[in-house]
Amino acid sequence: MSAVVLFLMSTFARLMTFPSRCAPHFMAIALVLAATNGVQAAEFPRGPGFYYSLPRILFFFGAFLLWIQLSVWVDSDLREFKLNYSIWNPVFLAIGFVGTVLCFAMPFFWIAWLLWMGMIVGGAVGYVKIRNREVREADAIVIKDAIKAFLERTLRMQFAKEKKGRPSRVPVRFFARGGQSSGAELARAQESKGYQSAQEMVYDAVKRRVTDIHLEPTQEEMSIRFRIDGIMVNDNPFRRSTGDAVINIFKVLCNMDITEKRKPQDGSFSAQVEERMVDFRVATAGSVSGEKMVMRILDKSAQIISLEQIGMPANLRGSIVELVKQPHGMLIVCGPTGAGKSTTLYACLNEIDRFQQNVITIENPVEFQLDHITQIEVNVKAGKTFASELRSILRQDPDIIMIGEIRDKETAEIACQAAQTGHMVFTTLHANDTVTAIGRLIDLGVQPFNIASALSAVLGQRLVRMLCPKCRVKYKPDAETLKRLNLPPGMIKHLYRAHEGEKDEEAEESEEPSVCEKCGGTGYFKRTGIFELLVITEKLREMIRENPDLTAIRNAAVKAGTVFLFEDGLRQVLTGVSSVQELMRVSK
Ligand SMILES: [Zn+2]
Repeated sequence: MSAVVLFLMSTFARLMTFPSRCAPHFMAIALVLAATNGVQAAEFPRGPGFYYSLPRILFFFGAFLLWIQLSVWVDSDLREFKLNYSIWNPVFLAIGFVGTVLCFAMPFFWIAWLLWMGMIVGGAVGYVKIRNREVREADAIVIKDAIKAFLERTLRMQFAKEKKGRPSRVPVRFFARGGQSSGAELARAQESKGYQSAQEMVYDAVKRRVTDIHLEPTQEEMSIRFRIDGIMVNDNPFRRSTGDAVINIFKVLCNMDITEKRKPQDGSFSAQVEERMVDFRVATAGSVSGEKMVMRILDKSAQIISLEQIGMPANLRGSIVELVKQPHGMLIVCGPTGAGKSTTLYACLNEIDRFQQNVITIENPVEFQLDHITQIEVNVKAGKTFASELRSILRQDPDIIMIGEIRDKETAEIACQAAQTGHMVFTTLHANDTVTAIGRLIDLGVQPFNIASALSAVLGQRLVRMLCPKCRVKYKPDAETLKRLNLPPGMIKHLYRAHEGEKDEEAEESEEPSVCEKCGGTGYFKRTGIFELLVITEKLREMIRENPDLTAIRNAAVKAGTVFLFEDGLRQVLTGVSSVQELMRVSK
């Protein structure tokens, strides 16, 4: 009898999408039970009839199903996280086997049943505890939540809406910005729906080195786009209602007016992501399909990186260090948006003795906090512009002034004057290359003689994405590529390019997923700088003062042996750090 029940159960288990590789185990158990039942029948001869009470069968069946579900889950969990399934799968098989035997062989069914349940629950709890130690914190399982999810899944039980303010297991804590009502604001945000979605999105973004998050509404969805290494990447969209709730949460955190959905607003908040403190600069704007939001992520705990770490070659580093230690002058770092200009300025500040000199910065926003310098943040709403702040700090006897960006004539003129009156000025300018930067200053309305006297050097730069070291592909460049790179044929044996999702012949025997784990399949991981430094020599100074003709200045720079961006970029391509395609993309 029991053998028949077991056989039916095992068939049932197979129908319940149980992996076919486990089915033989059940067949084995059914056979063993048939055998033990036979033994029992021989030892205790009984009359005809139905021996097993219905409650017992139901309880046995319940425990059996619980065990099956747990075994299936443990098996898939082990595989997902590449844990040691040669230990855990046999453990669960043994629990099932011993438990079944106990229930049928022990004289006291209920004690046997309780023992078996104890083994199943104990095994599951033990497994979770041990696997939590091996996986990342984000993947750890909170047993209470797991039981709830399990019941929901198997018994289709519907639980009441989640309790408000329930602590989440996503290791992200938000801190509202700005003042008196921040506690109440935070509580309000935590209570609203979408709070966990917001946490998960932020966690994911910080883990993936995202610098900007774009939330853009469409009719049904809220699309999410991340900027990683300067490139926009689509992420799984939110449902529209969740997306709107998420935007609302960030607006509350920023102390924005949540009823205003059309006029642009901006603000900021911070978050603790695991151990790191991260600042968010948030801007909203109305669009035809709803309110959109852009969030810039500023990692406060990131270290100031050195000139070497931003990828500057040794000879160039030498020239820069020499320049920044001059008593007066002006160093302009130029490039398009997102070329790493401010990172370079910070690296320059880091080269300076900040104890012996008075260093003041004017920034929008302050991206890194440095010790022993005065950092001032521009706030246009409060009337604190680059120009007004620059004027006032000149009265505070600075030796070195860092101006986040020159955008207008006034700032440019004061900066040039400061550079001529015994201050060292560092700043950035939005210009494609070093010679164009000089033209840009003239366009802003600064007198050429002022530029000529003030300027020490212009550093042009770009960030190129570095090839992912795990999946980059070696190839032999064709003649046309070499021609584009201005390289003689035959000089270069091989170059590297990004993995484009094709099958890797060498790694064919392995079952590795086709998406590279390190770079997420983009083929690139992190970025490094390429540079051109135009030092203003006496000859160039004369040219700027007398007749600022950019073509003539460029020709003079070529003659003086200036290494231009593209040539410096080749250094990264030839060493396999970056690819031809990437260099072409950024130096267009
Ligand atoms: Zn990769």
